[in-house]
Amino acid sequence: MQLGFIGLGRMGSRMAGRLLGAGHDLVVHDVEIDAVGSLVVDRGATAASSAREVADLAETVLTSLPTPASVLDVLLAPDGVAQGTAVRRVVDLSTTGTRTARRLAEELGLRGVASIDAPVSGGTSGAEKGTLAVMAAASAVEFDAVSPVLATLGRVFHVGTEPGLGQAMKLVNNYLSAAALATTSEAMVVGVRAGLDPRTMLDVLNAGSGRNSATQDKFPRSVLPGTFDFGFATALMEKDLGLFADEAAALAVPTWVGAVVHQMWRQTRDRLGPDSDFTSIVRLVEGWAGIEVRADVQGGPS
Ligand code: NAD
Repeated sequence: MQLGFIGLGRMGSRMAGRLLGAGHDLVVHDVEIDAVGSLVVDRGATAASSAREVADLAETVLTSLPTPASVLDVLLAPDGVAQGTAVRRVVDLSTTGTRTARRLAEELGLRGVASIDAPVSGGTSGAEKGTLAVMAAASAVEFDAVSPVLATLGRVFHVGTEPGLGQAMKLVNNYLSAAALATTSEAMVVGVRAGLDPRTMLDVLNAGSGRNSATQDKFPRSVLPGTFDFGFATALMEKDLGLFADEAAALAVPTWVGAVVHQMWRQTRDRLGPDSDFTSIVRLVEGWAGIEVRADVQGGPS
């Protein structure tokens, strides 16, 4: 299938690589020229100079872009994907929230282009290995059309037919992931301050009821070795928590814990910078306590 892919960052470059590996013809675009280079030179993708050019060549266009504003711009701007002559459907893999997904479905629909929100979870390692959780909202016909493509990226869940339900699922997932990382940061700092060894703490937590995605993966891989290189920017996690808060407010569901978790991520972004790795949140708590949660990890970072 001739596919288009726009946004070749941490996630997009790896997902595009999987699609090329599965034998798809891929026309790619990113505003950063360096992001395009290796996929074209080493992997055989075709470079397009604009989003519109991608949509002139590909029937199915996938996007992996940082923010709702960047997705709306790439898809709906006067020189955007919606103006393309070949495009029949757009699959947005980014995290953009339900309002953006519904707006895309409406405005692309007016041009006869189907819109599928299919955000992903599983990080850069999941994108590399093709083990992401893909949360797609699409009509049955569109889901059948895109699910073989999405299956190259990981396990595909058809979460509903209403536009935005994929986004709702993703916001719920990322809220839990963010809360687990924030609370694990506090728990680990308290334990180390009390005299516990952080490796022992993780072993115990992972054998007990405190186990979560931060104790199992993020702390051993990026915090204990001090590499802070898990592959997700603090600004993007803060964006996701803002979208979750908007969603909860729109549905009149109180989320007290969510408000505190969101503030911790805002602090992390403002103190350590928007481009810091999201695992850096522990450094905020470490600073307040005057200690660091570091240790040699057997065999180095996995
Ligand atoms: P990233 O910042 O690494 O990559 C985004 C890419 O989009 C960059 O290469 C950038 O140059 C490009 N871009 C920005 N504006 C553009 C435009 N107007 N036209 C063309 N290209 C443009 O971000 P990422 O970490 O890959 O995340 C992408 C999306 O996936 C985000 O919505 C994020 O929330 C979501 N996500 C990220 C992860 C992760 O672990 N990194 C996991 C799941 C979901």
